[in-house]
Amino acid sequence: MTLKRMYIDGAWTEAKSKEVRTIINPYNQENVAEAAEGNREDAKAAIQAARTAFDEGSWAETPANERGELVQKVADFIRRDKEELAELESLDTGKTLEESRADMDDIANVFQYFAGLADKDGGEMIASPIPDSESKVVREPVGVCGQITPWNYPLLQAAWKIAPALAAGNTIVVKPSEITPLTTVKVFELIEEAGFPKGVANLVLGKGADAGAELSESVDVDLVSFTGGIETGKKIMQAASINMKKIALELGGKNPNIVFADADFETAVDQAMNAVFFHAGQVCSAGARLIIEESIHDEFVEELVKRTKNIKLGNGFDESTHSGPLISAEHRDKVEKYVEIGQQEGAKLEIGGKRPEDPELQNGFFFLPTIFTNCRSDMRIVQEEVFGPVLTIETFSSKEEAVAIANDSIYGLAGAVFTTDIAKAEETASKLRMGTVWINDFHPYFAQAPWGGYKQSGIGRELGHIGLEEYTEVKHVFRNKKPEPIHWFK
Ligand code: NAD
Repeated sequence: MTLKRMYIDGAWTEAKSKEVRTIINPYNQENVAEAAEGNREDAKAAIQAARTAFDEGSWAETPANERGELVQKVADFIRRDKEELAELESLDTGKTLEESRADMDDIANVFQYFAGLADKDGGEMIASPIPDSESKVVREPVGVCGQITPWNYPLLQAAWKIAPALAAGNTIVVKPSEITPLTTVKVFELIEEAGFPKGVANLVLGKGADAGAELSESVDVDLVSFTGGIETGKKIMQAASINMKKIALELGGKNPNIVFADADFETAVDQAMNAVFFHAGQVCSAGARLIIEESIHDEFVEELVKRTKNIKLGNGFDESTHSGPLISAEHRDKVEKYVEIGQQEGAKLEIGGKRPEDPELQNGFFFLPTIFTNCRSDMRIVQEEVFGPVLTIETFSSKEEAVAIANDSIYGLAGAVFTTDIAKAEETASKLRMGTVWINDFHPYFAQAPWGGYKQSGIGRELGHIGLEEYTEVKHVFRNKKPEPIHWFK
């Protein structure tokens, strides 16, 4: 098995400690790769390479269109190697090949979008109120960026960070989740092939508390961008204060899906299933909290339960599989614990709540799609992010009540509203305290629209124009066109 190595200062390298981690397929626990297990020392070397490339190299001054051309090359190579990348992602996460292929399309689009945006913001002249002067506002790269990503969408989350940071002229050190590094390693091969200058893009592998913590603590890092859980996010925010790094945090969610009685029934049921059970619920924007108008509750639940029975769990490489396993044994333990908590709190288990009995699934970390009714806002199963295939259902009888329930959360990542009354939909959307609101749909996101959370779902935005701006500093340059003494001090 070839060792997946780190990419530091333009060279592939093992961990200084020579430590190695075995990467397993969560579908059957088979070993799929060995990866270098870096630590703080490796992270320091990567940061140093990025620092030198930024301070002494020419990357930040490279014309923006040329930076964009290199980023575009990565998009082209991802399209060329799509099948290989998709297979790696499915081996590493257990998700279906169809999902991984769709991820790769999105990832190539993200690189293409930021490649195109690289030279579109040349700064602007502003009207100076001072006579005989000129004022311009320019954007410059922030510097060295540490980028830490999770396991649920390994390459997608990395792409949201790598593409804008490079397009804007920063140098980067990426640290993917230690359990899903494979596609990120492969993309660094593509970055190498594209021909970025030495030290501009660096990859360090290893544990979060070790290699990752170095990125958030180092005074040589100017910005840390993190996607992951809320508790890790808090640690990173605290560590970043050491040198007042800029921070971008994309954290969790417990996303409400409001269904009014006048919604198109078939669409709402179908989308409610997709909202929560897609990728076994391991999606930051999963619609895990269904909030449904009282009058259609029974009929809706009956239909959901009926369809949930038909979800086929299995091997992501088998075309008939709807959903793969959870990512790890520890994660499945966490989901199981939450199911227990839900039952203790008095939620009614309608279906699922346990591991499947199918002998074919016994080596994987599978958990049955689960639905709870009789849920209330004050339950932990409703408030906390389970990050698994677990749906809680609450009811409402007025639109004000629906909004109040949906907003009763520490999170504010995303939410949806289903109704055929467009005025009601718009009014509800305007009252939801979330970074994304979908009307009569769930999950669409794309490179052109910003993504991020209100409240404790995070700080900052990725994607969209603002996703590039996050990787820039804003500078005001003022020029006195008729310099002469002002004699303030006589
Ligand atoms: P996690 O917080 O455990 O780990 C995320 C990354 O942080 C990993 O690379 C990990 O190694 C690293 N890390 C861990 N401890 C660290 C530390 N002390 N310092 C620096 N880095 C550290 O999250 P996870 O379990 O990998 O991912 C699941 C979480 O990610 C969920 O909460 C999910 O909602 C969230 N997520 C959010 C978004 C979004 O766009 N808002 C997208 C995907 C996932």
